[in-house]
Amino acid sequence: DKCSLPSDNDSKEHNHLISSDTLIINLDHGDPTVYESFWSKMGEKCTLVIKGNDLMSYMSDMSRLCWFLEPELEEAIKSLHRVVGNAVVEDRYVVVGTGSTQLYQAVLYALTAPGGGDPVKVVCAAPYYSQYQAETDLLCSGLFKWGGDASAYDKDGAYIEVVTSPNNPDGHIREAVVKSRRGEGKVLYDLAYYWPQYTPITRPADFDIMYFTFSKSTGHAGSRIGWALVKDEEIARKMTRFIELSSIGVSKDSQIRAAKIMGTICDNYQDFESGNSESFFEFAHQLMAKRWKSLREVVEGSEAFSLPKYPKEYCLFHGEYTEAYPAYAWLKSSEGIEDCEKYLREHCKIVGRSGRRFGADPSFVRVSMLSREEAFEQFLKRLLSIKGIKNQN
Ligand code: PMP
Repeated sequence: DKCSLPSDNDSKEHNHLISSDTLIINLDHGDPTVYESFWSKMGEKCTLVIKGNDLMSYMSDMSRLCWFLEPELEEAIKSLHRVVGNAVVEDRYVVVGTGSTQLYQAVLYALTAPGGGDPVKVVCAAPYYSQYQAETDLLCSGLFKWGGDASAYDKDGAYIEVVTSPNNPDGHIREAVVKSRRGEGKVLYDLAYYWPQYTPITRPADFDIMYFTFSKSTGHAGSRIGWALVKDEEIARKMTRFIELSSIGVSKDSQIRAAKIMGTICDNYQDFESGNSESFFEFAHQLMAKRWKSLREVVEGSEAFSLPKYPKEYCLFHGEYTEAYPAYAWLKSSEGIEDCEKYLREHCKIVGRSGRRFGADPSFVRVSMLSREEAFEQFLKRLLSIKGIKNQN
């Protein structure tokens, strides 16, 4: 989400998420600082010492397809998915990336190189994650090109559909929407938010190409670690080649840290089952549930906004019916407020991201639910102060 960070001119104002009742609260990007409180409680359990002579080589395991993937990270990723039950890891190649942002580009390359004809269209059903378009067209590639809303796509020939599930910005579970006439479409699953704090885990995802990120699973966005689970060897090989040429691999310091954090979650989970420890996903789920409950109460008492509804489903991880508590609130303004982002900014000094950026209507705004507690409380307080807006007009 970095591209959406405020420009230099704005940054003084946005510097601190919140300073007082009158200052701007920036909830534009999905910075997952909400989880800091959990990790601070873990203390030394997650501390890692890296000596001066550690991790100096470019190489990790040259006998493996993804030669820059640290074996202990691969093991930790597989254990984490087994504990959570959100993805099939057997018979899959793991490709590590500098965030899932790099993996997105690696997949597009792998599915279209060596090219030749017209650039392959990349589509995603609106509302779609605001960065896909810019990332796709950044280098004006001859291999692929952004094609917009997948629901409106009806051309013949090769295309790539991105399925984000649960979706950013609106939190809904999604499936591919383009009807491929001759099997010329490839589908890529961005499962950044398919974790039990955000959505019921109804089955282990079993797609040919899917990726996850450390940023939204545990909240460690700063480590810039993402991983793809890929069935086809040739695709995994091409993705590896892309990462080799764009960054000669992925920071080992970060990989080792990610392995340590994921390992702590798995260990804690076993202790939690025996009643001895706190589970990260339980903690995160309860925290998101609490935030959503408070937000829904405020919005229900308001005439200005509404929120999407999500069905209760049986979550295999929690072992009960649970609701979705998405990472973003996809607020819709009621009639009479045409530009929801502008309205929030002007009336509450809350910066969200306009529906327009997601290929949707400006009556929508996306607001992050992943901020630190203080910013979230201010957000609610300010929404409350404008709840009777229709009557005031
Ligand atoms: N995909 C989706 C749907 C996202 O929301 C994000 C982060 N906002 C990303 C990918 C990129 O995440 P990262 O590069 O931090 O892994």
